[in-house]
Amino acid sequence: MQRARKILKSTFGYEHFRHHQSDIIAALIKGEDVLTLMPTGGGKSICYQIPALIREGCGIVISPLIALMQDQVDAMNQLGISAAFLNSSLSASEQRIIEAELSSGELDLLYMAPERLLTPTTLSLLQSTKIALFAIDEAHCVSQWGHDFRKEYQQLSMLHESFPNVPRIALTATADARTRTEIISQLALESASVFVNSFDRPNIHYAINESGNSRDALWSFISENHARDAGIVYCQTRKGVETTAQWLSSKGCTALPYHAGLSQEIRQQNQQRFLRDDGLIIVATIAFGMGIDKPDVRFVAHMNLPKNIEAYYQETGRAGRDGNPADAWMSYGLKDVVGLRLFTEQSDAEERFKRVMHQKTDAMLGLCELTSCRRVALLAYFGETLEQKCGNCDNCLNPPETWDATIATQKALSCVFRTGERFGAQYVIDVLVGKTNERIENNNHDKLSTFDIGHEHTAIEWRGIFRQLIAHGYLATDAEGYGVLKLTGKAWPLLKKSETPQTVMLRALRKAKTKKRKISVAASELSTEDQQLFETLRILRAQLAKEQNVPPYVIFPDKTLSEMALVRPHTSSQLLEISGVGQTKLERYGSAFLNEISSSAQ
Ligand code: ADP
Ligand code: ZN
Repeated sequence: MQRARKILKSTFGYEHFRHHQSDIIAALIKGEDVLTLMPTGGGKSICYQIPALIREGCGIVISPLIALMQDQVDAMNQLGISAAFLNSSLSASEQRIIEAELSSGELDLLYMAPERLLTPTTLSLLQSTKIALFAIDEAHCVSQWGHDFRKEYQQLSMLHESFPNVPRIALTATADARTRTEIISQLALESASVFVNSFDRPNIHYAINESGNSRDALWSFISENHARDAGIVYCQTRKGVETTAQWLSSKGCTALPYHAGLSQEIRQQNQQRFLRDDGLIIVATIAFGMGIDKPDVRFVAHMNLPKNIEAYYQETGRAGRDGNPADAWMSYGLKDVVGLRLFTEQSDAEERFKRVMHQKTDAMLGLCELTSCRRVALLAYFGETLEQKCGNCDNCLNPPETWDATIATQKALSCVFRTGERFGAQYVIDVLVGKTNERIENNNHDKLSTFDIGHEHTAIEWRGIFRQLIAHGYLATDAEGYGVLKLTGKAWPLLKKSETPQTVMLRALRKAKTKKRKISVAASELSTEDQQLFETLRILRAQLAKEQNVPPYVIFPDKTLSEMALVRPHTSSQLLEISGVGQTKLERYGSAFLNEISSSAQ
């Protein structure tokens, strides 16, 4: 472990191990298997990188994300680590060179996708080589419940049989108890030591609001808080992606689309620009993001409801990996709630599967309609208890008002009943507020006892009430996909006067104006003078990054630059004291940064 600590300092430039890093590294060095669950940004990579350097042979990193291997390898090379990848983007002769390097023991780390690993040629190559360890990244891909399911991942259990003496480490940032069990059984990790980190991401501020995928709400959020920041905006459909990206561009942002309908080339290009340029917004479907390890994404915005909390947490987790303040923002409405319920209902999965999906949907909707701390609920979902409310979510900072909506609920449910459980929310709301149209007249619903009994609320307010009633399970949608509302078992006691009265508390319909929150990034905590130097150092970093065609953070992260601006080192040994500066980077960039710092002092 002494060697491990030395490498942490001299290669990575860090003083201390974080969380369970040192236990994990110790286990791997001893040759034991490990499963580690750590949130995004927790520092998973070092857990296998350091043991790969210490153990004899090459560490094999299995990742589904071919497009990102180049950046991962670049980052390793920047640290002076000998790393390479094998995938289809290489020519046959390039592949042969890397295979030769592997055989001759020159490589510390080799990245590849599971389908490549599983080919007979690769397996026999690995059999004849000294392997330090196997790192199975994004291990939740074995789970068929998750949206990242890859069937090749399930075949990786063969590593255990074919390489019994090589330690394996499975890593993931998503894992509820179910996924965890699945990873263990699918990958034959029964005897692995399991290290579970807290999943809390305290630097992320969570906010969920009911403005109903409104672009204006998105724009106020971005322009007020993140005018020059990099961020991801998730939309459900390709069309949503295209129009939102155009709309943000018309507002003066640099916003690029990303979805499965774009050519591989355009997707690759937009992803590269997101990684390379400062302050760019990517508007994407969920096709975007797995494995994106850009550390300075300052916000993740959802324009629709994610399908479940795992997806929500994973997507929002792409914000703020550098530990600086970041935002997870979401906007949703009645249509999303109906849509999500329908999606679950219509799925042709078997009953057992469907039950799980229903539970997941309920949990997601519950999180949205929650009036208490979001973080407490999120962590509870992953089996963690937070003792206190977090103070860094919308509900903590602006506690939502609730009101006794029992009577409104009774009116709504009774109107669904009187109209025969044959209509969608819009129709029922029209009847409630006493609006007539041809359909209502033809059905004689303007003669109903519930016609116009709800005029104390506007149609928009009723949409909010119906959204919450569906989310809370008083109303269900039909399985045929027309959005027809039906009463559930939970609804009946409210309709029958004989039952003991129960109160329904809902979120207030008109929201109090939210207090403005000051967002501080690492750099803005600097004095004006230091901030100027920080900007100068950023320009230098951008130049160096451009010359080598690597993302700027691969040279140095923002945190390292702001520390340089604050401390203003003058000598190499002072520079080495800055977090994130190791030996190789000192040799490569030390003089450039020292020069910049000393000339700024003149
Ligand atoms: P993950 O893969 O878990 O999302 P990474 O491995 O990319 O996270 O690490 C996130 C960031 O934290 C990286 O910039 C990494 O260099 C940094 N980091 C990792 N371990 C440490 C440590 N012990 N001290 C300081 N920074 C660290
Ligand atoms: Zn909170």
